Amino acid sequence: MNDCIFCKIAKKEIPSFIINESKNFLAFLDINPRTKGHVLVIPKKHCTNLTDFPSSLAKELIDFSKETANKILKTVKTTDFNFSINNGKFSGQEVFHAHFHIIPRFKDDKLAQWPKSPSSNELLKKLAEEIKQK
Ligand code: 5GP
Ligand code: ZN
Repeated sequence: MNDCIFCKIAKKEIPSFIINESKNFLAFLDINPRTKGHVLVIPKKHCTNLTDFPSSLAKELIDFSKETANKILKTVKTTDFNFSINNGKFSGQEVFHAHFHIIPRFKDDKLAQWPKSPSSNELLKKLAEEIKQK
């Protein structure tokens, strides 16, 4: 896509701090890191998010992301990280070229955890039935 910033990064038309590359993926430092070592993994070919991400690339994505995460963890000296994707505007997606966040986590790093709200077995059972039928 012409005006997509991550397509431009993938084509190396604009600069980024690339830390790993495979046939179909690129990993580079997030410009506004949530923690030290926050990296984005993107497919080189444009897609919007997980919804249109080609399943044929799933194994390469996981292998590449694990290899990338290992390099980061060794560098920033921790063992834990979040691996996540914001899928759509309401989830917080701001760049509409699929990207998977690798966010290293540290003891007491104060990064917000998602709030949890209690439910009931009755509500959970009803919802599970509804979802299963789709
Ligand atoms: P989203 O909210 O869409 O899941 O995440 C987009 C991420 O891309 C953000 O964490 C933001 O800091 C990062 N980002 C946005 N523009 C650029 C850029 O031009 N270069 C780099 N390296 N990261 C960017
Ligand atoms: Zn793109």
